[in-house]
Amino acid sequence: MGVNRNIIILSILWLVIIIGSFSWNYAVALNEQNRLARFTARSFFDQIVITRKWNALHGGLYAPITEATLPNPYHDLPDRDLEVNSSLKLTKINPAYMTRQLSEIAIETSGIYFHITSLNPIRPGNKATEREAVHLKKFEQGVLESSEFFEDEGKQYYFYMAPLVTDTSCLACHAKQGYQEGDIRGGISLVLPFESKVSLHIILFSHLIIALLGLLGLAFVGRTLNISYRTIEKQAVIDSLTGILNRRSFTETINREFNRSFREEEQLAIVMCDIDNFKDYNDTYGHSAGDECLKKVAQSIADSLQRPGDFCFRYGGEEFVVILVNTGRNGAIAVAERIRHKVENIGISHSKSAVSDVVTISAGVATLRDNLVNLSEELIKCADDALYQAKRSGKNQVCFYESEDA
Ligand code: GH3
Ligand code: MG
Ligand code: MG
Repeated sequence: MGVNRNIIILSILWLVIIIGSFSWNYAVALNEQNRLARFTARSFFDQIVITRKWNALHGGLYAPITEATLPNPYHDLPDRDLEVNSSLKLTKINPAYMTRQLSEIAIETSGIYFHITSLNPIRPGNKATEREAVHLKKFEQGVLESSEFFEDEGKQYYFYMAPLVTDTSCLACHAKQGYQEGDIRGGISLVLPFESKVSLHIILFSHLIIALLGLLGLAFVGRTLNISYRTIEKQAVIDSLTGILNRRSFTETINREFNRSFREEEQLAIVMCDIDNFKDYNDTYGHSAGDECLKKVAQSIADSLQRPGDFCFRYGGEEFVVILVNTGRNGAIAVAERIRHKVENIGISHSKSAVSDVVTISAGVATLRDNLVNLSEELIKCADDALYQAKRSGKNQVCFYESEDA
């Protein structure tokens, strides 16, 4: 019972540890994934900023006018377009225009979308989306970068945004909007297609396996302990040579049964048995043969008992005792005679016995009501005296204890 309770407590503790480990591992994996997404987005952002800076350092760069690169209508400075000759016309690509063109290439080549924006753009196409506007407002409050995961049409995306700080090169176009150096008026947002790499299933599955193995281990330990416990418990009450109950068990049982019978005014009998001339048997046939003889006699006594409430015990070396519940004088004598006959009938040769040529026993019987005893010790003493009487009267017989005043 104690073992089972401890195993249950340990199992609950084990499950708590597993749940803790699962939550921790899942949180770490998610965190790691977020870190990776942020790192990727940041690298992209930095590259864009460097490229823009390079462009701004040159005050913009000229590129041939093509259908894809038309003059920028929002760039209204006088040096915007240049005619090199009749077949080559150039237009100035400022950082904003370049960013837009780069973003078109990026979305085609790597599926990464980025967008330069501000709350007050010169070009309407650079107007902040709802999501960007929320993040732009954070920058005005001093936040240096901002990100979120979102889902669109069943696909996962990572949104990242960081501010662009106004520097001298920006003022060429933006001074008219009242921008000053160091102002944060815009930013670049990036949207990365994002497929969650954290497999909840794998973490869950591995933890379930570990949990199960732990529980199986605990169940195995519990079962082993229970078996050992029961074996120890059994060994404590079983006589190792004969396999019947031992003297310790007799003491417990007689006290219990005596008190119960006394209280409920029932009968209770005990039969004390002792092998006749057993010392001579040992001397003649050897100690091992003596042990074998003890086993057979014990088995024979146990086999003589027919009611489930009757018990037999090894009381001492070659002494056995039987407890017969709810049994009076005649019944107990009958059982004792049955035992005596049964032992005699095994037919174990005993050439040195003074009373027979086979192993025999003598038995002394006493009962609670017939002998008017008040204590279990008194009942044992009566049976012992009756046994002594049987020995004195010639052995191989049963004697009932007769009180002196009877
Ligand atoms: P009685 O008829 O008067 O009972 O004589 P007895 O020889 O049987 O009685 P005694 O008390 O003189 O001797 C008992 C013997 O039982 C002595 C001892 O060596 C033997 N004995 C006790 N325990 C064991 C045991 O576990 N194994 C064996 N082989 N012999 C045992
Ligand atoms: Mg003896
Ligand atoms: Mg004896």
